[in-house]
Amino acid sequence: MVSPARSLSRLALSLVLTAAMVLGPRPAAAQEGMSLIRDTEIEEILLKDSQPILQAAGIDARNVEILLVGSKELNAFAAPRVMGFNTGLILESDTPNELQGVIAHEVAHLTGGHSARRDEMNRAGMKPFLLTMGLGVLAALAGSPEAAAGLAGSASYFGALGAMGFSREQESRADQAGATLLDKAGLSGRGLAEFFDNFRYQEVFDEARRFAYFRSHPISSDRVEALRRRVEALPNYHKTDSPEALAEHAIMKAKLDGFLNPQVAITKYAETDTSYPARYARAIAYYQLKEPDRALKLIEALLQEQPENPYLWELKGQILFEYARTQEAEEPQRRSVALKPDAPLLRVNLGQTLIALDDKAKVQEGVAELRKALTQEEDNAVAWRLLAEAYDKLGRDGQARLATAEYNFWIGDRRQARVFAMRAREMLPKTEPGWRRATDIVLASEPSRDELRELAREGSTSSRTR
Ligand SMILES: [Zn+2]
Repeated sequence: MVSPARSLSRLALSLVLTAAMVLGPRPAAAQEGMSLIRDTEIEEILLKDSQPILQAAGIDARNVEILLVGSKELNAFAAPRVMGFNTGLILESDTPNELQGVIAHEVAHLTGGHSARRDEMNRAGMKPFLLTMGLGVLAALAGSPEAAAGLAGSASYFGALGAMGFSREQESRADQAGATLLDKAGLSGRGLAEFFDNFRYQEVFDEARRFAYFRSHPISSDRVEALRRRVEALPNYHKTDSPEALAEHAIMKAKLDGFLNPQVAITKYAETDTSYPARYARAIAYYQLKEPDRALKLIEALLQEQPENPYLWELKGQILFEYARTQEAEEPQRRSVALKPDAPLLRVNLGQTLIALDDKAKVQEGVAELRKALTQEEDNAVAWRLLAEAYDKLGRDGQARLATAEYNFWIGDRRQARVFAMRAREMLPKTEPGWRRATDIVLASEPSRDELRELAREGSTSSRTR
């Protein structure tokens, strides 16, 4: 993963390799190339797939974060406020309905109170910090060597999640409850039964060769049969995926293939295949194979057909930025933001380009874009790091220290968060909201007795206690 410049969105889908590089020797519990991936387009599709099932389970989808884990292992999990998907699972699913089947099964584990995961996690002394800290962590982890320690933690955490087992009884209960959820959501349970059936052949493999998912979700012929009988009896069994959902599923798979398996994607999506997903996959694959001109040419053609597609503009901007054509990257990134103003990641891309342009007015505009993104995703550590860089360029040292404190706070480095927040307090006027925020960060980051004394001496707490 050597490229001319480190772009945020490159993190987006190619983070797997970066992460492995950063990590060096892998922690024992970590599975091969596991890391989190951010991508607005895919997150939206996955949320759309999950939405009806979450709703049927009485969970408000607005409170659920979609987690995309870069791993070939088939796995998915539902935890409070989080729905996680391995890229391997998405790539192995043929239809949205199959994916929804797995989602329903996992949500049923969650709502059924099958707490094996939590108990085992506690027993193993693991801190599910990602669940509490949010997604921004991930992006930061991939981008900065200093956060490698945190990544090691996350990798073993996900490794553990994948390996957590449920009892056979819990499995069949999750199957049945999952089927009920699907039907309640107006969806067919056929995908659920078929997906598990496809992998039943794994019964003949020895344990070690099975996908981890099926070590934790053992599939027997009896189980598949029981599930099939159940879903066939439900009223919505004959419902099929909408053409729109099928198209989005194909786009999601094409994108993942292009980013994660570019060499394979070039042959899998043949030159003769002129469908949108095929051309999209090839464009991304050429970009990953370091043929930016070829990629850009394909993207231009796609943009001719879909000039209103924010993700095509995002991709174009990403390639240009990464290949040090920063000035050219600005316009496409502006377009992507204009077309999708509610997507913080697109805004962070734009902010990153603006602050790289070395023009004071643009840097200031970049700050505004990053701030806007951070109001939507307060825990986006990459945005905080970029913000620190921007304030540095503008000579606003106190704000730069504060942004660095935020960055460290959100990646979970409490010590560095305290150090930078203390510096920010020294540099910022007490009248600025940033000064108070710096104080809060110190207080929330396990301050030492001395630090608390210092805060008290400066009367920081007096404004609150009086
Ligand atoms: Zn299960």
